[in-house]
Amino acid sequence: MSTLFEKIIARDIPAEILYEDEVCIAIKDIEPQAPVHFLVIPKKVIARLGEAEKSDQSSLGHLLITVAQVARELGLEEGYRTVINHGVHGGETVPHLHVHVLGGRQMMWPPG
Ligand code: AMP
Repeated sequence: MSTLFEKIIARDIPAEILYEDEVCIAIKDIEPQAPVHFLVIPKKVIARLGEAEKSDQSSLGHLLITVAQVARELGLEEGYRTVINHGVHGGETVPHLHVHVLGGRQMMWPPG
């Protein structure tokens, strides 16, 4: 059973793709919570951060480098927020690791 994001990577479900390489894909979030809201997703299915293994170390670094690259390309010079939701209390809804990137407005702290 494929995850939602695997289906997007396979082009079985449409999405607005911002960037893609052999390790990850960046797509616009379908329900944006800020003027700019995109997700950076590893192609290898890691259900959530707590299930990442030592061997995923370079892929996880790659995700963050990609976050910064896509944010730069989208003109988020004023800043942005990155979020990884883990498990029930974290508010995770899709069990395929992804980094949220939110920008284009002032973020608040503490987050909800
Ligand atoms: P999370 O709640 O952290 O697991 O985040 C899942 C995110 O995936 C949510 O922000 C959803 O809006 C987003 N999402 C769900 N379905 C799609 C889709 N088909 N295309 C793009 N983003 C989606």
